[in-house]
Parts: sequence; structure tokens; C-alpha cells
Amino acid sequence: MLCQICFNLSDEPVCRICQDTRRDPSVICVVEEPSDVIPIERTHEYAGRYHVLGGALSPIDGVEPDDLKIAALYERVAAADPPVREVVLATNPTTTGEATALHLAQGLHERLPEVSVTRLASGLPMGSDLEYADEVTLGKALSGRRAL
Ligand SMILES: [Zn+2]
Repeated sequence: MLCQICFNLSDEPVCRICQDTRRDPSVICVVEEPSDVIPIERTHEYAGRYHVLGGALSPIDGVEPDDLKIAALYERVAAADPPVREVVLATNPTTTGEATALHLAQGLHERLPEVSVTRLASGLPMGSDLEYADEVTLGKALSGRRAL
């Protein structure tokens, strides 16, 4: 099943990461697929929570904002207590991943201007999938993330 908070794969209604009180609830890392959480966890550079979109925007393939967990992200961030201070956009460095990151950055700035929106630093091979990034490269991309 999917975690009812972050939509990661979970064997309980709320996944272990969302349940873990040592994880910083004020930072949310947005990824395309549950398989993208694993390489980020492996870097040990990230101690916040996740939000899994379930894909990337791709009008050609008929994937529109309503097909992804985008409205759920806005609701989650707006309702968060303690407040979310940063949303890290960790969609893949592909055309659809970049388009999704821009869409989310715009949507978040409009709705929640007080939340800072960041994107992984470049350095990840363009056109690749986070899933296949090595942990050193991905760790550097995470620690060097920049505001959008
Ligand atoms: Zn979760």
C-alpha cells in the first residue's frame, strides 16, 4: 500500500519515515517514484521527510497535474504543523522531471510564498534517473541544493 501522508510504499497506513520522530518534518523532499527514495536514503545526507508524486508531468503521454499527488503536496504543506520551511524538488534530471520541478516551484511560490523551494544541484547526469545515481554524486547534489 501507499503511505497516506507521503505516498511512499509502506506496509502500514503511515510509513516508517513519516512515523520516525527523529526525521525533520519541516523539510519535504519531492520525488517521482518510491524507487527514488532509496538512493537518497543511501546518501545519509537527508534527514527530512518525503513526498512521492507517482510520476512526472508529461502532456504528450497524457500525464497532467491531476494525475500526480500535486494537490496533496500543496494541502500537506499548507496544513503542516510545525510548518514546512523547505521543499526540495528531487525529480529526475530529465525533460519531464525538470518540467515537473518548474510547475511545482511556481505552484508553491503562488500558494505558499513563505516556504523556500530548492532543487538538487546540477552534477547529476542529464537525462538520467535518480535511481541510478551513485551516492557520492547524489549526496553532493543534495548538499549543494539551490533556491528556485
Ligand atoms: Zn510516509
